[in-house]
Amino acid sequence: MKVLVINAGSSSLKYQLYNMVDESVLASGRVERIGMDSSIVTHEAEGKPEVRSVSEILDHVTAVKKVLEMLTHPEHGAVASMSEIEAVGHRIVHGGESFKSSVVVTPEVKLEIRNLFDLAPLHNPAHMMGIMAVETNMPNIPQAVVFDTAFHQTMPDTSYLYPIPRVLYRRHKVRRYGFHGTSHQYVSEQAASYLGKPLESLKMVSCHIGNGASCTAILDGKSFDTSMGMTPLEGLMMGTRSGDIDPAIVPFVMNKEELTLTEVNSMLNKHSGMMAISGISSDMREVSEAMEEGDRNAKLAFDMYAYRVRKYVGAYAAAMNGIDTLVFTAGVGENSSLLRKAVCEGLTFLGLELDESRNAVRSKEPRLISTDESRVKVLVVPTNEELIIARDTYRLITAAAQ
Ligand code: AMP
Repeated sequence: MKVLVINAGSSSLKYQLYNMVDESVLASGRVERIGMDSSIVTHEAEGKPEVRSVSEILDHVTAVKKVLEMLTHPEHGAVASMSEIEAVGHRIVHGGESFKSSVVVTPEVKLEIRNLFDLAPLHNPAHMMGIMAVETNMPNIPQAVVFDTAFHQTMPDTSYLYPIPRVLYRRHKVRRYGFHGTSHQYVSEQAASYLGKPLESLKMVSCHIGNGASCTAILDGKSFDTSMGMTPLEGLMMGTRSGDIDPAIVPFVMNKEELTLTEVNSMLNKHSGMMAISGISSDMREVSEAMEEGDRNAKLAFDMYAYRVRKYVGAYAAAMNGIDTLVFTAGVGENSSLLRKAVCEGLTFLGLELDESRNAVRSKEPRLISTDESRVKVLVVPTNEELIIARDTYRLITAAAQ
């Protein structure tokens, strides 16, 4: 079965076509600047050169049409005809409390995703446009949806409730949901299998550290707590997001600077984090380079970033009464040996010992970076959210067809 994975944003759409026989990627690409006059499509099929085209793509229906043209193109394509694609899987950021796992798309599921628009106003409407665009271009093709929040639905109420009036939870579902769930689930399973132990037997903290970043405490194989909250703003310091701050800062700054709700939201989501502290970039590579050249603000940003990851690992070790496995993943977690070292240096009290030469090795495979004696096993596990979406879609659609 060939499965098309789609991650639709408001002005972009990323895609991968998987052959589920061997889980190979047959083609991948993205459409950028949807809704603008010079939209860009970048496409690459396995074993063929990357192609790029600029045209007017005003909506998601046209974007999906363009993707299908690319996938079936006689020269650049990956399949002879659209009928070879048997299912489509979508990434959905917010599943609220309604979705505890991936599901096949039905009219009821679409309605429920619409009901959740309020909780993820930037993401869920765009995902829905992706689903509708597939329906228009590929009538009757089975579709599945995979939620960033689903893995965290196992959190106990002590983790997911905020100590604010409970009526806000009852009326508006204000609670911690957590994100990056597909990634935390995938890397925790990969880490357990690398260590040759059942996931349920491990006390693990997984650190998904990229542009967005979150830590998850995994106990008995389930998400026990996670650093992102009702929205992906809470928790770690990120590229442009503040992460945890005193909530009283928000009304204080709004008052002093005469900011609107939109402006304060934008400040915390787009103009904070590493960008704000370094004054250079939200990108860890650029911040690390500037730090190595002696820039003091870059060093401060790097140190704060690492310190905040370390604090969460420590907090989750306490939450689970111990930790035996620490996993790093995503852009920074997989690639920055410097950041991993900075985080681990302050965790020796847990019996964690980093092996510097193992930490320096670069690889696309899961690997151990702690010493053989270390009580806490530290691993780097490359994440693959698209593959999880393809797998879940394949599993659900195959089961539904029986
Ligand atoms: P992601 O959101 O998972 O794609 O991660 C993006 C982040 O990973 C950016 O901050 C990049 O600078 C960072 N990153 C990617 N490669 C490296 C690298 N070799 N060293 C340090 N940071 C990196």
